[in-house]
Amino acid sequence: MECRKIIHVDMDAFYAAIEQRDNPALKGKPVIVGGDPDRRGVVSTCSYEARKYGVRSAMPSKTAVRLCPHAVFLFPRFEAYSAASKQVMNIFMQYTDVIEPLSLDEAFLDVTENKKNTRSATLIAKDIRREIFTETGLTASAGVSYNKFLAKTASEINKPDGMAVIRPGEADRYLNRLPIGKFFGIGKVSEKHMLSLGIENGRDLLNAPLELLVKHFGKAGRFYYDIVRGIDERPVEPVRERKSWGREITLDEDILDMDLIRSILNDIAAELEDGMSRKKISGKTVTLKIKYHDFRQITRSATIDQPTHSAEIIINEVLRLLKFTEAGTKKIRLLGISLSGLDCGNAEFHEKQLLLPFRECG
Ligand SMILES: [Mg+2]
Repeated sequence: MECRKIIHVDMDAFYAAIEQRDNPALKGKPVIVGGDPDRRGVVSTCSYEARKYGVRSAMPSKTAVRLCPHAVFLFPRFEAYSAASKQVMNIFMQYTDVIEPLSLDEAFLDVTENKKNTRSATLIAKDIRREIFTETGLTASAGVSYNKFLAKTASEINKPDGMAVIRPGEADRYLNRLPIGKFFGIGKVSEKHMLSLGIENGRDLLNAPLELLVKHFGKAGRFYYDIVRGIDERPVEPVRERKSWGREITLDEDILDMDLIRSILNDIAAELEDGMSRKKISGKTVTLKIKYHDFRQITRSATIDQPTHSAEIIINEVLRLLKFTEAGTKKIRLLGISLSGLDCGNAEFHEKQLLLPFRECG
């Protein structure tokens, strides 16, 4: 069997690095990007300078500010981050279409077959990192290996601004001493459970019998048993079919006025009807999305009996859902509506049917 070639690319301190790029006065300084410390916000990303003080992603912003009081604290600018993310994605697409994004700042690429006809995945990873830096001014780390788990493990080894390759037969060397909580796929809860069983690192996991792991972790036990042996057959799965149809609007100014909120939602519903009716798509689940001024985001959903794209039906549901939010008492910065549980109607179905016979019978 030919060995797969998988790359995991992970941008370094992505949000904080963008802030430092866009404001050179922040370079070399501890920068924390996150939610309001006074409103129970959490840290999204922090610069490497801030990490020296023990600041970490997902910790309460309040704790972060206490650990590093002289850090520059910033609220996220998602527009800037998603713009940079698109640039990076476009670079990936010059090499392969088999791209599985995990978030705005990291993705798996399968380059076994690639658009440059390059045999060396290591060379591709180098080129990608260089191009990312040239085009965005940001650094990325990369891991190269023959499966997703090891590629992800490899990208951590020389982070930031570095890369590593794990070749067949080398998995042990990297996994033996890896703390169990650092294994990709082992979350906080499983980590605790592993520790209670005396499994502290890769070597311990390697010595754990399959029966024990399955007894304690069910199906995941088999997965843990495999990954520590460098076995992971999961394919890189590109995002395929559309699962929802939606539109959201980030407002110029945070708003409180209910009439204004209703009228914006009306406009969005009308826009959805327009687009969906032209594509003959309907949806059963209506979701209202709100981001408050402090970047806290909520969604409220309702499922109706019949799939629809009628603006009238959509807005009725949305206005009902609006009552279960803090709209009117808490300032809002983003409003969105989406429909999921999509029914793509007959038109698209027929288009697909027409394509099939030629390929299957030929
Ligand atoms: Mg990252």
